[in-house]
Amino acid sequence: MSDTNGTPALSDAVQQLQERGVDLDRLAEAYAGMDEAAVAKSYGALARAGRPSRPYEPPPSDGDFFDIDGLITEEQRQKMAELRRFMETEVEPVINDHWLRDSTPREVLIPGFRKLDLLTPIYGEDLTSREPNGSVMEGLLTMEIARVDVSTATFFGVHSGLAMQSLLVCGSEEQKAEWLPAMRNWDKIGAFGLTEPNVGSAISRGVQTTARREGDEWVLNGQKKWIGNATFADLVVIWARDEADDQVKGFIVRAQENPGYSVEKIRGKVALRAVENGLITLTDCRVPESDRLQNANSFRDVAEVLKLTRAGVAWQAVGCAMGAYERSQRYATTRGQFGKPIASYQLIQDKLVHMLGNVTALQTMCLRLSQLQDEGRMTDAQASLAKVYTAARCRDVVALARDLHGGNGILLENHVARYFCDTEAIYSYEGTNEINSLIVGREVTGLGAFV
Ligand SMILES: Cc1cc2nc3c(=O)[nH]c(=O)nc-3n(C[C@H](O)[C@H](O)[C@H](O)COP(=O)(O)OP(=O)(O)OC[C@H]3O[C@@H](n4cnc5c(N)ncnc54)[C@H](O)[C@@H]3O)c2cc1C
Repeated sequence: MSDTNGTPALSDAVQQLQERGVDLDRLAEAYAGMDEAAVAKSYGALARAGRPSRPYEPPPSDGDFFDIDGLITEEQRQKMAELRRFMETEVEPVINDHWLRDSTPREVLIPGFRKLDLLTPIYGEDLTSREPNGSVMEGLLTMEIARVDVSTATFFGVHSGLAMQSLLVCGSEEQKAEWLPAMRNWDKIGAFGLTEPNVGSAISRGVQTTARREGDEWVLNGQKKWIGNATFADLVVIWARDEADDQVKGFIVRAQENPGYSVEKIRGKVALRAVENGLITLTDCRVPESDRLQNANSFRDVAEVLKLTRAGVAWQAVGCAMGAYERSQRYATTRGQFGKPIASYQLIQDKLVHMLGNVTALQTMCLRLSQLQDEGRMTDAQASLAKVYTAARCRDVVALARDLHGGNGILLENHVARYFCDTEAIYSYEGTNEINSLIVGREVTGLGAFV
């Protein structure tokens, strides 16, 4: 029933309220005691209470908060999008199982990376030098890969960074022509053997693996530890000390056909388990002079390769942190506790903001680093600063991500546990954070503090 103005008659409303047991006398008494402002405020509250509440729709999870996307070329953007699709649909579903089994999903990665043609935008068609913006491209691709899985980014970086870069910087024209096209197409897989069981950080002064020239051959003896891809690589670049002049030289060891080369997979790792790290033993391993890297004459040349690839490891940290943040944002906005999404609690929001701030700082730092690299201006100290800073901040981000996921954060199926563990390797390889700090410290003080 309505009055002549179309509003429900007051008596009907009163009757409805009485039927619902509302104490109208008490209500009227409370209103009578209120001042004008309190009455107006209560009208506002009543109006809000009458409105149907909208269901909560979480915003999309996006780790590119400062629009890095807007700073890159259309070609780069497209390549990254294709790679992201591949990583999310082909790699993510299988990676935890491989991680548990200490195995690299080569049967997925090799044809996938080949089809995506990831290395032409970095090394170009003629393979004589990197493309003008090849380092930025390499960094962005590394970030995309590590956003889903750091082991895969390491497989990528060992082959396309350490091994290909050794050939590019230190190889003769014939050596480049033999290996680089096949490596760019993922037909031949590379590895890089520098670290030894007894010498890690001090390797620049302490390579113990020996090389002895005998006619047109070299005879290598020694061991190399931690060598990524070593269990299946076609070629392993081995760095050894020439017994004659005491200088470090590089050798291409054709691992699949050389009886002096043997490798044992390192088991029991708690990080980067989907990288196959090998302990290589070289026993009178014979290498023809034609497979000695013709332009590697001392450790200085190895350092040049390492400088160029250190930026790649910094980008791994960026991608890992980005993936951990994005998964945390999704989890926080969908996981409910105390009747609300956990994202509605201030302490959780603080964690997300802390993570996103770090991710954004790392992206912008590394983008500038790679631009300097492409301009040929990147210094050792700049590469080291990026490695130190990204690894440390990535550690913060993955710890928060693990924690934000509660108990689910230690389950592999939620992925952040894998990021948490893998970050420990980022922290220690390609120069530990201490060694990279010492490189930066020497630059900014003019005082070396290594020994
Ligand atoms: C997963 C993984 C993959 C790897 N892949 C490869 C690969 O493909 N090829 C390859 O050649 N190597 C590879 N490495 C080896 C890696 O580069 C070394 O682990 C790294 O250089 C550190 O050496 P180390 O482990 O022997 O540590 P150590 O050198 O023994 O260091 C132990 C600790 O002492 C500290 N320390 C050492 N010297 C100093 C100093 N002067 N001042 C202060 N602190 C110091 C270090 O920072 C560290 O905290 C890999 C390692 C890992 C873990």
